[in-house]
Parts: sequence; structure tokens; C-alpha cells
Amino acid sequence: MFPYILARDEAMKLGMKFFCTGRRCKHGHSAPRYTKTYMCLECRRMHERARIKANPGAHRVKCLKWYYANLDKGREMARDYQRRKRAAA
Ligand SMILES: [Zn+2]
Repeated sequence: MFPYILARDEAMKLGMKFFCTGRRCKHGHSAPRYTKTYMCLECRRMHERARIKANPGAHRVKCLKWYYANLDKGREMARDYQRRKRAAA
């Protein structure tokens, strides 16, 4: 996913969202990290999943709110998803 080593200050200079040192995070992931927060992508994914699992209703509400605030994009994403699902079947 991130085939090259990029130091954080370099990534910042280039305005990139992620950087990668090649070293593992404290949970043993070798994923890229967010330039702004240092957080590892895998850790963030785990964190998000745990948060959604703890309160699925709030997540659903948030998703619906986003959908109605961004109808065009939401519809486009739904169409895209359907298309990919059909292609996979
Ligand atoms: Zn991690």
C-alpha cells in the first residue's frame, strides 16, 4: 500500500496525508501513519470499529445525516457499490 519510506517532515513539506517510517507501531502494525496525528492507519481502523460496535445506533444516525447532507455524492457512492457488487457476482 505504501511501498516507500517517507519521513514525517518530508510528508508535511509535500502536503501529504500519510507518512511511513518502515518501523512498526506499538501494536505491531506496519501501516502508514497520519502526518498530522502520528496515528497508524490500522490502529485507527481498529479504533473506529470498536467505537461503532460500542454504539451502532449513533453510527447509523451519523451515516444517514451525511447521506442526506451529501445526496449527490451519497447516491453516486451507492450506485458505485451496487455496480461493484454486481460485477463481483
Ligand atoms: Zn497500529
